[in-house]
Amino acid sequence: MSEKIVQEAIANKKMLCPKCNSPVQRYEKYADTVDLVRDGFNVQEIYSTSSRVTLICGNGDCKWEERTEFWDAYIEDGD
Ligand SMILES: [Zn+2]
Repeated sequence: MSEKIVQEAIANKKMLCPKCNSPVQRYEKYADTVDLVRDGFNVQEIYSTSSRVTLICGNGDCKWEERTEFWDAYIEDGD
C-alpha cells in the first residue's frame, strides 16, 4: 500500500469519512513502515512498505481524524 493510492483516492473522492460520509479532504503523512522477511538459508528478502497517514475529514465542522496504516478500509469500492 503506497502513499500514491491515498493521494489518488482523495483526489477521486473515494476516501470516505466514516462519521459524516463525505469525501476526506486531505491527509498528512506520518511514517513509512518496512517489513523484512528472511526465509531460512535461501535468504529471500521480501520488502513490503506501507504508509501511515493521518486522514483528515475537513468537511464542514466535522472533526474526524484518523492516524492509520489501514486506510484502505476507508476507500470506497470501485463502481
Ligand atoms: Zn467527516
